[in-house]
Amino acid sequence: MDKTLVMKFGGTSVGSVDALVSATRIIRDAKRDWARVVVVTSAMSGVTDLLLQSASLAAQGKLDSLAEAESTLRQKHFAALDALVKDETLREQTKTEINSLILSLVDLCNAIAVIGEATPRALDAVASLGERMSVRLLAAVTNEAGIKAQWTESASFVVTNAHFQNANPDFKVTTEKTRAVLNPILDAGVVPITTGFIGATPDGVITTLGRGGSDYSAAIVGKALPANEVWIWTDVDGVMTTDPRIVKEAQTLPEISYGEIAELAYYGAKVLHPKTIRPVVEAGIGLRICNTFNPSHAGTRLTSNGKKNGRVIKAVTAIRKQRLVTIEGRGMLGVPGVAARAFGAVASTGTSVPLITQASSEQSICFAIPAETASLIVPALEETFAREIEDNDIDRVWSTKEVSIITVVGAGMLHTPGVAGQVFSQLGNHNVNVLAIAQGSSEVSISLVVDASDTENAVKALHELIVRVEAGR
Ligand code: ADP
Ligand code: ASP
Ligand code: MG
Repeated sequence: MDKTLVMKFGGTSVGSVDALVSATRIIRDAKRDWARVVVVTSAMSGVTDLLLQSASLAAQGKLDSLAEAESTLRQKHFAALDALVKDETLREQTKTEINSLILSLVDLCNAIAVIGEATPRALDAVASLGERMSVRLLAAVTNEAGIKAQWTESASFVVTNAHFQNANPDFKVTTEKTRAVLNPILDAGVVPITTGFIGATPDGVITTLGRGGSDYSAAIVGKALPANEVWIWTDVDGVMTTDPRIVKEAQTLPEISYGEIAELAYYGAKVLHPKTIRPVVEAGIGLRICNTFNPSHAGTRLTSNGKKNGRVIKAVTAIRKQRLVTIEGRGMLGVPGVAARAFGAVASTGTSVPLITQASSEQSICFAIPAETASLIVPALEETFAREIEDNDIDRVWSTKEVSIITVVGAGMLHTPGVAGQVFSQLGNHNVNVLAIAQGSSEVSISLVVDASDTENAVKALHELIVRVEAGR
């Protein structure tokens, strides 16, 4: 069968005239080497945030800035069309379609304002508009450049459950539908340009896959077709030793293993959505992350094992805006089921826990939660353990002020004597106090909790260590 490539462009990669020119060139080059090319795109940068902000203001009855949002959206998309699409019919038709999506934002926000509430379902209808606009824009620009392209909306083939704002696909139905929609386009030698981020329930109600979910969309489409490769085009030269926004000396990792990227993505490296990895691993698809603004750079290749003679510590990452919750009391000693009940109570609030540590004395359980959920979770735990609190078996349930989880990733790190020690002394030398520690169960990472104010310091200090360990100093 002819080889298939899925390429995903992120928000910045379609966010300006220059970016769109570069993306078009990348599509043209890919078309030269690959018989079948599918493009998945995000909304133009800033658009999803603007849409969601408009909806949340509407829910508070604030509609004054809606007109401004409307004109920003029009300006962003129309300016790109004016600059890049000379064919008047194509340009005007695309503007009309985008304009009608902008008008549906206005309708949705008015409805939200009347009800006084933005339900997750309504928020997905609003958030999906960004990708629905960008596919039309990118398809017009691509066609104008002489590459035959056809936009599609993934709501017609990515079938998900009704977990709005974080929906999960049904891979069986999605596979059938994806092939039915995309194969005829591909067979005709045309490039399908489809929306990232979006799915729909079996009844056709629009859902989204969670913020940053377009990467996941590319993996879903890649697995369904199946594709030979999925390439994620973003605004940096691949996966780096840390977020280049924190440390400008961050370096690109030419290779990283699936296990390592999974930990990095889960613990905050925004460069890849954590859910992207599983479908591509399961389907044996090659994954590459590369830079739209520097396309000749090889970027990062995902491998099954990571390079044998590569770095011991590969990267450091941070998740901000967390709190540690502690349940403590001498009466917990040896009482079965305390942890199960505690996590049951947290789960009932719909929150997932990124990190757990338990003191071996069994006198406390400590875990991290997103900071904004603390006001929900602490009372839920107090209710669950009301009896134990009354009987003084549990002394208290409390949450810290804001903290960050810093994660150091590298396969082999935990088998290399002294590295974990170096991590802690490096933090100590930089006056960073470690509040809690957890070792990733996959043995490729160590996570440390630090005060929010120490975040940058900790990342910088550990990044210095990566460079030093590599240099063998
Ligand atoms: P896109 O819109 O292309 O999906 P994102 O903003 O979601 O782009 O992700 C890319 C950003 O991820 C980069 O600009 C960078 O600031 C950030 N990032 C965080 N950690 C890393 C890392 N370890 N390597 C590369 N980029 C990282
Ligand atoms: N546009 C969506 C977001 O901003 C999805 C994505 O960009 O991956 O979250
Ligand atoms: Mg992203």
